[in-house]
Amino acid sequence: MLGQMQDWPLLVSRFLEHANVNHPNSEIVSQLPEGGEFRYNYRGLSERAKKCAQALTRLGAGSGDRVATMAWNSHRHMEIWFGASGMGAVTHTVNPRLFPEQLVYIINHAEDKILMLDISFVPLIEKIASQLKTVEKYVILVGKDHMPDTSLEGALCYEELIEAESGDYSWPSFDENTACSLCYTSGTTGNPKGVLYSHRSNFLHTLVALSGDTLGVGARTTIMPVVPMFHANAWGIPYAAAGAGAKLVLNGPIHDPETLHTIMLKEGVTITAAVPTIWLGMLKHLEATGQDCGKLSVVMIGGSAAPRSMIETFQNKYGVRVNHAWGMTETSPLGSLGTENQAICDLPEDVKLDIQCKQGRPVLGVEMCVQDEDGNELPRDGKSSGRLLVRGPWIIKSYFKNEGGEALDDDNWFDTGDVSCIDEYGYMQITDRAKDVIKSGGEWISSIDLENAAVGHPSVAEAAVIGIFHPKWDERPLLVVVPEKGATVSHAEMNEFLMDKVAKWWLPDDLAIVTELPHTATGKISKKDLRAEFKDYSFPKA
Ligand code: AMP
Repeated sequence: MLGQMQDWPLLVSRFLEHANVNHPNSEIVSQLPEGGEFRYNYRGLSERAKKCAQALTRLGAGSGDRVATMAWNSHRHMEIWFGASGMGAVTHTVNPRLFPEQLVYIINHAEDKILMLDISFVPLIEKIASQLKTVEKYVILVGKDHMPDTSLEGALCYEELIEAESGDYSWPSFDENTACSLCYTSGTTGNPKGVLYSHRSNFLHTLVALSGDTLGVGARTTIMPVVPMFHANAWGIPYAAAGAGAKLVLNGPIHDPETLHTIMLKEGVTITAAVPTIWLGMLKHLEATGQDCGKLSVVMIGGSAAPRSMIETFQNKYGVRVNHAWGMTETSPLGSLGTENQAICDLPEDVKLDIQCKQGRPVLGVEMCVQDEDGNELPRDGKSSGRLLVRGPWIIKSYFKNEGGEALDDDNWFDTGDVSCIDEYGYMQITDRAKDVIKSGGEWISSIDLENAAVGHPSVAEAAVIGIFHPKWDERPLLVVVPEKGATVSHAEMNEFLMDKVAKWWLPDDLAIVTELPHTATGKISKKDLRAEFKDYSFPKA
């Protein structure tokens, strides 16, 4: 027997429609790549997203066509997200930080028909345009006054396109399983692979993102997603903000701590989200200027592990709660988040801080388990670590164009490639990427734990740990450090510092000082490049 409720396809245009009708005056503030600031509200976003859908139709985009964006977080980017996906096309968010060869590969692989780009990326695209096989139209996201002189054939001006439309448009209804957006993984090995989200997966993900134990976004929230809209759905914040009618602050190309902080105070940001690197810079800025965080109450940290010292400083010094989250492009991305549950809320503060350093509890809709190499599920004892598997309605089934074949095992589990354990309270901890874990004498050393402990040293700006061949132990850890400006640090001093923070046999066998560490396009330390840099390194003879 079937239920007798309305069959209402879960489409992302519903979020915008809801915001337009119920929160029309909630503000959206956007920093522009061409300079200056733009302010409007959900009524304005709704009007212009409809005009964007009309303009895309006029340019020849139809259902299922890929409309690529290469843009910072901005109101125009929001209009395309809703405009392109809302009309039934697929919004492909291209990460501009990728290497030109990867950009060519991704745009050709996605078969993007229209490429809509910020003025900042025009020179980059001009260099590769001759290799882009499917792009028929380039649209530059500026007004007429800022339209650059460009070699991009027939380049169109976004504001002119929008102005020519009436906005008299109704969002079409279609199957909720229709593709909505496309995002490529940063591809630490091999070619990047596409993750194709559906309207349904994005819709369900948003409902859970909104809940109090997840992002906790409400109509009174002012949210600033510093995490870019071209990386893993900006953690779902653009949809969640519209779904809640929250004030939305978009930082455009601005990432320096001083200006971010000024915007945060001026706009009264209450929730913000980004990778740890951004917050390292922000904390340094706060320390140097003696300022506070204004109305900020929650900072979401994810993408890489949030170091204990960072969580402690935000909470104890600035009164800002840290919500440590885990996810990946393949998981839309929210998988787990570290809000407190009943079991831990009365534990001593330092124990709770240890738990906050973990990557949190699975959100509703995501199932998780940890398995050993033979596929046996490991106990939830906080110690047994193995491969982290996940499944749920916003977890990938297969990559775009079936690259790499089936992405799931027989029980529908997706292998995340992360090594982790789950504790008795239900909190999951990432101990490493499967390929970064250091195998020493048959035991595993977590490079992440060592790195997190090392960055707590006052002379260390950034740290990475890689396994180096060792004739007796197979691999031993090498600690690679970028010191703070003007500071130095020695191997002996570092091991002394780490002594009470990790097991003694984990202590790095050597320390190398570098001026900078290689990063991937999504801001993570690139262990692959670091291993290549140190491929001829061998430990000093004892
Ligand atoms: P991406 O698809 O680029 O977002 O990368 C996903 C990967 O980032 C995950 O598989 C993890 O290895 C890593 N990651 C994400 N969040 C965290 C976190 N909070 N702590 C440690 N690693 C994380």
